[in-house]
Amino acid sequence: MPVLVVGSIALDSIKTPTSEHHQLLGGSASYASVAASFFGPVNLVGVVGDDFPNNFRQLYVDRKIDLAGLEVAQGQTFAWSGEYEVNMNNRRTLSVALNVFEKFEPKLPEAYRATPYVLLGNIAPSLQRMVCKQVQKPKFVVADTMDLWIEIARADLLDLLKEVDMLILNDSEAKQLTEEDNLIVAGKKIVAMGPRYVAVKKGEHGCLLFGRDGEFFSTGAFPLETIHDPTGAGDCFAGGFIGHLARTDDLSFPNLKEAVIQGSLVASFCCEDFSLRRIQKLTVEEIAARRKAFGSYVA
Ligand code: AMP
Repeated sequence: MPVLVVGSIALDSIKTPTSEHHQLLGGSASYASVAASFFGPVNLVGVVGDDFPNNFRQLYVDRKIDLAGLEVAQGQTFAWSGEYEVNMNNRRTLSVALNVFEKFEPKLPEAYRATPYVLLGNIAPSLQRMVCKQVQKPKFVVADTMDLWIEIARADLLDLLKEVDMLILNDSEAKQLTEEDNLIVAGKKIVAMGPRYVAVKKGEHGCLLFGRDGEFFSTGAFPLETIHDPTGAGDCFAGGFIGHLARTDDLSFPNLKEAVIQGSLVASFCCEDFSLRRIQKLTVEEIAARRKAFGSYVA
């Protein structure tokens, strides 16, 4: 089953305590679509400027991602830069240039409208809602979000939550959204806001999955010794999650738990190099090997 991915496509600059890189391929849709492509066909919706490098476009083509929904607008591609602190957990945004994103309104090609599995990658909730209005009876819609939207677009986000099956966010965002300090209480509050499920990511400490009928799952992250660049790990988690659901076409809770594990594994590869450098070379065999190893680490 195909997956529809909408989100940002960016030229990123990233600074870590040990190195600095500019003009990297980034954006929520880039990470999520490449992550999902290891599981099945992907339809991409996003916008780039006329400066978008050909080799970046080729990277999507190499992963067999359908680009009928990739708009090329006059102007510069969305650009973002961020810097990590020594522990690589805390990141601060140094600059954002919306550029062609400023006027972006996602338009789904006719052939994309019936895509059964939909990932609304991290972009403004008003844009995510525009996509919801254009899809026809999807089987499962997942939305990702970030602290910025909770802060500046809360009303849109709350409306979006009533239209999606699942929300993905990290622990601090879950606390921010619910004004709760306890993550279990926060998770339960979020499913009461609309989505059937919520995944609360805890970085190197794994992920919690909550269902509205009291379903609950907790898993650790794959243990990594060296993190080169965690940018995009959350988007890879979301892409791997929806990719696994689409491949199996099974919405049972045990299969959602497996999707959380598959998403976490793809995210772990993402952290091993800057930008998409590691995941663009990834193979399904490597994901399977890491799944086997992970299985032996948990009780
Ligand atoms: P993550 O590390 O999963 O939070 O995702 C990082 C990616 O999000 C980077 O590649 C950025 O280009 C992209 N990004 C940062 N800020 C925004 C924003 N306001 N809207 C959409 N994408 C963003």
